[in-house]
Amino acid sequence: MRSNFTVGRIIRENEPGAGLRTIMRIGRAGERLVSYACVTTETYRHFGRLGLGAVFGSKKLKAVMVSGKSSLPVRDKSQYREVYDEIYRAAVKSEVMKKYHDLGTAENILPLNELGALPTKNLRTAKFDGVSGISGEKFAEQYLGRRLACSHCPVGCIHIAALREPYEDEVYFYKTSMISYDYEPIYALGPMLGNSDTEGMLRLMDMVEAYGLDAMSTGVALAWATEAMEKGIISEKEAIIRLNWGDYRAYKEGVRMIVEQPNEFYRALAHGVEYASSVYGGEDYALAFGKNEMPGYHTGAGAHIGILIGARHSHLDNAGYSIDQKALARNKNPLPEELVEALLAEERWRQILSSLAVCFFARGIYLPETVLKALRQAGFDLSIEDLPRIGEEIHREKYRFKIREGFSLESLRIPGRILETLSPAGRLDERYIREAIGHFRRLMTEPES
Ligand code: SF4
Repeated sequence: MRSNFTVGRIIRENEPGAGLRTIMRIGRAGERLVSYACVTTETYRHFGRLGLGAVFGSKKLKAVMVSGKSSLPVRDKSQYREVYDEIYRAAVKSEVMKKYHDLGTAENILPLNELGALPTKNLRTAKFDGVSGISGEKFAEQYLGRRLACSHCPVGCIHIAALREPYEDEVYFYKTSMISYDYEPIYALGPMLGNSDTEGMLRLMDMVEAYGLDAMSTGVALAWATEAMEKGIISEKEAIIRLNWGDYRAYKEGVRMIVEQPNEFYRALAHGVEYASSVYGGEDYALAFGKNEMPGYHTGAGAHIGILIGARHSHLDNAGYSIDQKALARNKNPLPEELVEALLAEERWRQILSSLAVCFFARGIYLPETVLKALRQAGFDLSIEDLPRIGEEIHREKYRFKIREGFSLESLRIPGRILETLSPAGRLDERYIREAIGHFRRLMTEPES
C-alpha cells in the first residue's frame, strides 16, 4: 500500500551506504497490476514503459536494492583518464546538453507545438492553445526548485519543480512538494488532456508518480476515456465521474480509479487503451502502438512507424521523431524503404549504447570511435566493423524473443486517428505505413550480415 516515495525513504533510512546503491521500487499501481505500472529508481527516474511495475507486483516484489563497492579494473589509468576527460569535455561543451541542463527535456514543448506535432486532446489536433501555461520556460521561471544529475553526469537534466501549497485547515502552514518534470509527462498530462493549468498539472503528475504509473500511458488512457465519454460509448455510470478536457481534478479522480479499479470499466482501462477499446469500441482513437500508448510526437510517419516496429514500441528505440524532423528540414519525404532502413540503423546502433548504459540524451557524444576507446580501457578490443554486427545481433535477439512470445508484425494495428490529424509532414497514408512495415519484415527475415 505504500507509495514510491515512502518505500524509497524507508529503505534509505534502514540501509546505509548513500551513493553506492540503487533502489528500484513500485507504488500502489504495481501492486494492483496496472499493466502500465512503472518501476521507479533514483527517486526521479523510471523503467517507465511496458509495465515492469506490474511484473514486480505479480511476484509480490515491492523493491530491489542493488549495492556494492567493487569497480571494474581499467587497463591503463592514464589512458582511461584521457577518454574520461574527452567525454566529459564533449558533454559540457555541447549545445544540446546545455539546453538539457537549462530547461530539461521540457524545452521541446514550444518547438513541437510550433511545428504542429504536439498531440493534443487525444490527438484531435497537434497544436495546443494553452501551451504557454505548460512550457519548459514557464516551469523554469516559476517553479524550478532544483536540478539533479544521474551519477557522474555533468549535465544535470533532471528538473524538479517546487510546488508550495497551503494546508486546508491551517492558516499560514504550507507543504512544498518536489515534483520532477520532463517533456513526456507534461505532454501526456497536459496537452493530451487539454490541461493548461500549470499547478493542476503538477498535482496530477505528483499523484501519477506516487502511484508508480507510467505517465504517458496514463495520460493516453484518460484521453481515450474522455473522448469515449463524449462519443457516448462510455456512460457516466461506468466512468463514475464526468471526464472533461482540462479538468485536472476529475483526472486525479480518474487516476485513483485506474489504480483502485472499482468496476469493470476501470479494470479494462488499467489494461491500457488497446484492451479497453477492444471491449468498449473506439479503436480508431485508441492511441496504442504494439499495445503501448503513444509518446508525444506527431511529427510524421517516422515517429509512428518507429514505435510500431521498435523492439520495445518506444520512441527511444529508434527516434523516428528525429528522422521526421530531419526530413522536414530537407523538405523531402523519404520512401518507405529509406525510412525503415534509417530507423533500423538507428535502433541497432542504440543497442550498443544501451548495452553500455549510455544515456540516450548524450548519444551525440558517444561516437563509434569514442565507444571503442572506452571499451578498450575496459579490456574489450573491438574494431569499428564489430559494432554494427553486435548491434544487429542484439536487435535480432530481442525480436526472436518477441516472436517467441507471440508478437507478429502482421497483426500490428494502426490507429486511425494518426491518419486523420494533420502532421507537419502532411496527412499520413496507411498504405505508406503498411509498405514500410512490409519492408521491415523482409529485412528481418534476411540472413544476419
Ligand atoms: S545521465 Fe542523462 S538523464 Fe541523467 S542527468 Fe545526465 S543527461 Fe540527464
